[in-house]
Amino acid sequence: MINSVLKTVCKNGITYFIFPRWEKYTFIGHGFSSRLGGVSEGSFASLNLSHRVGDFPGAVNENLKRFLGIWEQTTGSLVCGEQVHGTSVFSVEENVTCNDSSGKGRVIPAVDALVTAVPGVVLGALSADCLISFFLDPLTPAIGLAHAGWRGTCSGILAGVVDSMRHYFGSKIDQLEVYLSPCIRECCYEVGEEVLNFCAVSPWRKDIVFIPGITPGRPFLDLQKTNFNILQGLGIRAEKIYRSGYCTCCNQHLFYSYRGAKGSPTGRQMGIFFLR
Ligand SMILES: [Zn+2]
Repeated sequence: MINSVLKTVCKNGITYFIFPRWEKYTFIGHGFSSRLGGVSEGSFASLNLSHRVGDFPGAVNENLKRFLGIWEQTTGSLVCGEQVHGTSVFSVEENVTCNDSSGKGRVIPAVDALVTAVPGVVLGALSADCLISFFLDPLTPAIGLAHAGWRGTCSGILAGVVDSMRHYFGSKIDQLEVYLSPCIRECCYEVGEEVLNFCAVSPWRKDIVFIPGITPGRPFLDLQKTNFNILQGLGIRAEKIYRSGYCTCCNQHLFYSYRGAKGSPTGRQMGIFFLR
């Protein structure tokens, strides 16, 4: 796994991040938002991109307009999964750019990962601690975007994305590249019995990395390393898996963190990914 410090970009008043290793691929657009540069207030300040956390719809619409506008996109071409911490993958097969009156884009029910080979389809995924994995097959080309916390990771969502990209697009495993977004990291992700019991029976249990903490029975989960191990086990080359350095919980001036908010409402950042 390659540590790849994200490149910070400030544009139109918004701060967001791009992946340095993928700047050479001019046929893709990608980005990961920070919480800076939007109009939401209070605990949602300021660039909350989720309509499902109790923020004012008008504020979220304006934030989405600003963020997607960086790539001259709108919610009319945005496709997101409902994100239910499951393992379902949906292949977006057509670009139905529409005049999106809901302001939410297309939301595919009961899905946590999306793949596509259709130019102009903008895949989006929301998170506040969960990991967003960006999958790129630069030769076909085809892309995938997955949302996963511990449950999705340990249930096999990554295998689902890889299988889907092979099945739908003929992607070869050894040409896939993966970027792991900012997420809650091993410094802050203390887990307990529910997670440990779930992981103990996961088919990927050998890949799951726990770091002992000071409290017995409450280790810290290394979500990025766990995802790396699983991806490598699936056949993706280690030197084609990149991770960002940021912990969302340690960097709440830059990111929303569900764990960091300690039960208070908070916003969501978004990863977007599309083929031009
Ligand atoms: Zn941390």
